Amino acid sequence: MQLTEQEWMQAVDELVTHLQALIRCRTVNPPGNESEAATYLARVLRAEGLEPVVLESAPGRGNMVVRLQGTGEAPPLLLLSHTDVVPVEPEHWTHDPFGGDIVDDMVWGRGALDMKGIVAMQLMTVLLLHRRHVPLKRDVIFAATADEEAGGEYGIGYLVREHPDLIRAEVALSEFGGFNLELYGRRFYLVQAGEKGICQFKVRARGTPGHGSTPHQDNAVVKLARAVVRLGNARLPYRRTRIAEAFIQGVANHLEGLPQRLVRGLLHPTSAAFLFRTHALPSQLERLIYPMLHNTVTPTMLQAGQKVNLIPSVAEAVVDARILPGETQETLFAQVRTVIGEGYELEVYAYGDPLEQPLGTPMWQLLVERLQAHDPDAQVVPFLLTGATDAKWLRQLDIPCYGFAPMRFPPDMNFRALVHGHDERIPISALAFGLPILYEVVTRYATGGSFTG
Ligand SMILES: [Zn+2]
Repeated sequence: MQLTEQEWMQAVDELVTHLQALIRCRTVNPPGNESEAATYLARVLRAEGLEPVVLESAPGRGNMVVRLQGTGEAPPLLLLSHTDVVPVEPEHWTHDPFGGDIVDDMVWGRGALDMKGIVAMQLMTVLLLHRRHVPLKRDVIFAATADEEAGGEYGIGYLVREHPDLIRAEVALSEFGGFNLELYGRRFYLVQAGEKGICQFKVRARGTPGHGSTPHQDNAVVKLARAVVRLGNARLPYRRTRIAEAFIQGVANHLEGLPQRLVRGLLHPTSAAFLFRTHALPSQLERLIYPMLHNTVTPTMLQAGQKVNLIPSVAEAVVDARILPGETQETLFAQVRTVIGEGYELEVYAYGDPLEQPLGTPMWQLLVERLQAHDPDAQVVPFLLTGATDAKWLRQLDIPCYGFAPMRFPPDMNFRALVHGHDERIPISALAFGLPILYEVVTRYATGGSFTG
């Protein structure tokens, strides 16, 4: 079932060609126009004798789904990706964001990392399985959907609602995971096993209206400002989630001496607080692990007053809060009230539950084992994403979804700064590293029968 070196090189060349074509499809969301990418994928798949469908949730909002038929001895596996991208400011780009140029062995363009590179990798995986007549016990479904960058309503949300049987699966693989990170000179791969929940809310202060020339102590603007400052400085209580614990243990086990002891200190609230206060950890690690151990609150919008000489009776701030698995709006609000004190109204603005995938499933073990096999010096650890992806929609169908798009980046490349940033680009070497791993994972899982039975 293995490919030769030569065959892998050809497959990577082909992957790059598809990626360039996908970058040239202008699928900036809004408005999306993902049908262009969906149609391209469908054309490629149809030319190989497969039977993809393109379903539009609205004009131009195309979702492509294709299925490789297995014997049905075990439930399907879903490869899920999105074809829409975020907008660009072209004046800040070194190369055309929709050109798909290859410069310095990297493919440039909006979506190269998030996530057309992965769309192309999933496409190539499906094409290789099909061409090589790999005998599948599970169906392998590949869904390239619209609208992820704006919440997924017209993409995976639409499929979950209107066509659930097209995508029903035992487990799914999608974006944001499987990439490397260097800490203390050692290499780690982070596989995404959960997402924080969103609880965006308003803080409202009320006061006594009056004339600006006669100040008093019950000014809503001043009251609100106090709350905003407290929220900005707040460190909410430590909570050790399952994913954070596995991450900390995994990282510590791959280290020695002082770094190992420091990282182990993250397992306990008091030493963790000390490590964060003194910035004793590498900044990359601190930025990653702090949000995995705490709810966070970030004031982002303010509204108060209409006239310079009028003290308003009400002032509002909008706060973007992200909550850990195990937390709810109620537990967050209790923490927020402790921080800001009495006398404020809290009102939910938008809410989405946190998501925690099971660790230790056969798929999880397979992801870890295959990554490890391709980079024996590295350590694979789970992590919790601070943002939200389309994985949340799959929960409605009880499909666990891991962020797994295996890629090895050069250690000096801060790829996370390029996601949604200027000059987004992907090294071809990262794709060449990842494709065989994804192919092996999918092949083993889909030919291996039921792991759960
Ligand atoms: Zn994405």
